[in-house]
Amino acid sequence: MLTITAVLCGCEPKTKERQLENFIAAHVEQIKPLMKEANLVYWNAANTGNSEDYDKFSKLELKIRQIYSNPKEFTLLKDIKDSGQVKDAKLTRQLDKLYNAYLENQIEPELLKKIVDLSTEIEKNFSTFRGTIGGRKVTTNEIKEILKTENDSAKRKEAWLASKQVGPVVATDIIELVKLRNEAAQKVGFENYHTLSLTVAEQEVKEIDRIFNELYELTNEPFAKLKDDLDSVLAAKYSVEVRELAPWHYHDPFFQESPLVYDLDLDTYYEDKDVKELSVRFYAGIGLPVESILANSDLYEREGKNPHAFCTDIDKEGDVRILCNLKNNEYWMETILHELGHAVYDKYHDPEIPYLLREPAHIFTTEAIAMFFGRLSRNAAWMQEMLKLSDEQRLEIKKVSDKYAQLKQLIFVRWAMVMYDFEKQLYANPEQDLNSLWWEMVEKYQFVKKPKGRMEPDWASKIHFTIAPCYYHNYVLGELLASQLHHHIVVNILNLEPDKEVSYVDESKAGEFLCKKVLEPGAVYPWNDMIERATGEPLTPKYFVAEFVR
Ligand SMILES: [Zn+2]
Repeated sequence: MLTITAVLCGCEPKTKERQLENFIAAHVEQIKPLMKEANLVYWNAANTGNSEDYDKFSKLELKIRQIYSNPKEFTLLKDIKDSGQVKDAKLTRQLDKLYNAYLENQIEPELLKKIVDLSTEIEKNFSTFRGTIGGRKVTTNEIKEILKTENDSAKRKEAWLASKQVGPVVATDIIELVKLRNEAAQKVGFENYHTLSLTVAEQEVKEIDRIFNELYELTNEPFAKLKDDLDSVLAAKYSVEVRELAPWHYHDPFFQESPLVYDLDLDTYYEDKDVKELSVRFYAGIGLPVESILANSDLYEREGKNPHAFCTDIDKEGDVRILCNLKNNEYWMETILHELGHAVYDKYHDPEIPYLLREPAHIFTTEAIAMFFGRLSRNAAWMQEMLKLSDEQRLEIKKVSDKYAQLKQLIFVRWAMVMYDFEKQLYANPEQDLNSLWWEMVEKYQFVKKPKGRMEPDWASKIHFTIAPCYYHNYVLGELLASQLHHHIVVNILNLEPDKEVSYVDESKAGEFLCKKVLEPGAVYPWNDMIERATGEPLTPKYFVAEFVR
């Protein structure tokens, strides 16, 4: 008896690893065909608008969710994880991925139903509510149009107020939803839902805070300067004093986009070109050919088809597709470069790595690769080479596109700081005075003053708190990584000065670097390890600042 115990103990680590290997094998066998089917059904639904396909997709999604909500399997994984006996690096990574996927689905069916029902209800209210101007109902598009084009401050104010009227309709429900999500998170041992969300996405609140704080410090003065310039332009345009500027003088309800005060119209450069051919030629030139991706893709408009764009990895075995609605203009040039960025990431994973790791290191790292390539549609050097432009044309483009990029990036990251900080505090204490908290954040990060005496739930008119909770920071992290990769390639791969303009056209060394260091490893390393292995340092905002803040 004693001997047997001793032998068992001696074998324990190997036993846990073997137990995990068996679990993974069975799990992959179960999940792989389901995922493939779900991806294909979604692809068909998006291409045809067929409601039966959408229903079928929801059912498959539920089936997949049910697998991950199995409490017995979760306990088994937890037991293996807590034993600390899985030493093999790839097994550990797979264990972490599995554990997190199960963890976020350990919500009792009753509580889950309450959460799903309430968020569906809020979403419905968002989509059916119409704000009013002078008693007349207006659509979101009408409001946007007024904020872009109207010169009369009183009319702008009415439109802005109309955009906030949904707030009081949904605010109480959103707070209730936040509390339900917190309840679910607390049941699995987390402080609140924000912490749980970041943890299962392999992000530590402390680390994201560090990055955001650094970005805040580094952009504070330049943003103040840029905002002063912008304010003078807007004050003149709307015939008011700078101190009289109010939230409705910016060009969208949240001041998240750059106001249209500096012209940037690059469409003329693309109208007689073929954006598909340009992207095929470009990706081939850097050694990441996309023909086999495009062969399965759906690129042009059609009745009933999803009007947006996305990329999907159907089977993790090479069937990667993009959906677009191409036109020959700058918007679709950026979009096809962006979607193909996601696609090459999925396509060029090392096929030898385990199924569960055959995906990008993180949702924001694939966004970074997509942004890295998408940015080229406005890059003067890239445009010159691809479109055969003169030096004069290139300089002309550079002048406006640099200014525009700075404005766009700075305004966006300062706005994203409001979202990140507010949401963190919302989940930490949903009972606090959220209306005041929101304007504190807006004043701190965006330098936009709260209208005197305003006491409405203006935060609640942002739909992201309902449909994409605790996610917004990933857009910023994607931009930061795109800049970090750009800097590293320019300086260390192409051996150029950091501010050298690079077209990337036919730079096969750049493609080779991205393939080896980012695409091939998939999720074998946690995201910050991958970034450090690729660029020599963990994710940092300093290259984004160097690129866009001058
Ligand atoms: Zn994307």
